[in-house]
Amino acid sequence: MLCHSFYVQQSAAVFLCLVSVLGIREVLTETHGATSETINALPTYKFKMKKKKTTDESNSTVSEGGIVAKGTEKERMVSKEDAVCCICLATYENNDELRELPCSHFFHKDCVDKWLKINASCPLCKSEIGENVTGTVSGEHATQQ
Ligand SMILES: [Zn+2]
Ligand SMILES: [Zn+2]
Repeated sequence: MLCHSFYVQQSAAVFLCLVSVLGIREVLTETHGATSETINALPTYKFKMKKKKTTDESNSTVSEGGIVAKGTEKERMVSKEDAVCCICLATYENNDELRELPCSHFFHKDCVDKWLKINASCPLCKSEIGENVTGTVSGEHATQQ
């Protein structure tokens, strides 16, 4: 703001000012947020709601959680308590798109994508997303620096 009001007629100075602002933003993104490349590399699954089979009363369809990644080898049951996105606190709906993180936690795709751009770690267990994860798989604490 200061730069702008002082050097409003000197485009070179304004340009320099913009560069430094963009530079800072880039550093912040690199330190805390995941790139969209990293985010998109994480798998997404559809959520299928599982309705409790109560008799024939049509108005008593109680949600009992659901199934994630139905039909794939990653298919698994989700209890009613776990079928909640801890970012927006909404219960997963049928056909909601979820994204699974390397720590096996999953969230709404849209919610976690926004989260990961700011903070490249799991909102629940703080596991880091990205290169660090692959590093810990094979790496041992052999070297001390
Ligand atoms: Zn959500
Ligand atoms: Zn996690």
